[in-house]
Amino acid sequence: MQNNSNQKHVKNHWSLGLLESMNDPSSVYKETDKVVVIKDKYPKAKVHYLVLPRDNINSIYNLDKSHILLLEEFGKVFHDIQEEHSDLELKAGFHSIPSMQRMHMHIISKDMISACLKTKIHWNSFTTSFFLPYKDVLRSLKDNGHVEKISTEKHKTLMSTPLKCNQCEFVPKNMPDLKKHLLSH
Ligand code: AMP
Ligand code: ZN
Repeated sequence: MQNNSNQKHVKNHWSLGLLESMNDPSSVYKETDKVVVIKDKYPKAKVHYLVLPRDNINSIYNLDKSHILLLEEFGKVFHDIQEEHSDLELKAGFHSIPSMQRMHMHIISKDMISACLKTKIHWNSFTTSFFLPYKDVLRSLKDNGHVEKISTEKHKTLMSTPLKCNQCEFVPKNMPDLKKHLLSH
C-alpha cells in the first residue's frame, strides 16, 4: 500500500479542538441523544462547561425555527447542571463571535475565579452583552426564526468596555486588581 506521509502528519486546526474534546471521554461531562457537554479546557470560572449539538451546526447564526427543540434541550441540560452545582450561581449563553468551531453554549459560574482568566477580552466576553444569554437566543429564534449578528463596531465597543466587577460596583485599575477583588465575594 502507498504510504501517504503528507496525510499522516496533518494536525487539526486549533479551532477544531472542541470536536476533539467531544470525542475524548476524559473531557466529556455528560451527554444526551442530542447534545454533548464537555469541560472547558481553559475554564474562566470555578465551573465552566460547553454544550455542543451532536449535529454539525457551525454557529448560532445557522439556527432556524427547526432548531427550537434542540435549543430547549440545551436549556434542560443547563437546568440539570445548575442543580448539580447548587452552591454556585451559573449562567448560560453564547459568545456573539466565537473563536472555536461547532456551535457551543457556555455554562459558567459567576465567581469568575480561575487562573485561566487573564485578559480584559476574556472578562468582557463573559460580562458584557458580547455574551448572549441562552434565554435571549431562544426568544429570538422563536420570535424571528434566526439570531441577529452584532456589528464590527459594536464588537469593538464591547471588547474595549472598561473593567467593572460583575457582582458589585467596584471599578478595578487592571486585571490583577480585578482578580484580587473577585476573591472577596
Ligand atoms: P468561544 O469560541 O469564544 O465561545 O470559546 C471557546 C471556549 O473553548 C473557550 O472558553 C476555551 O477555553 C475553550 N476551549 C478551547 N480549546 C478547547 C478544547 N480543546 N477543549 C475544550 N475547551 C476548549
Ligand atoms: Zn465586586
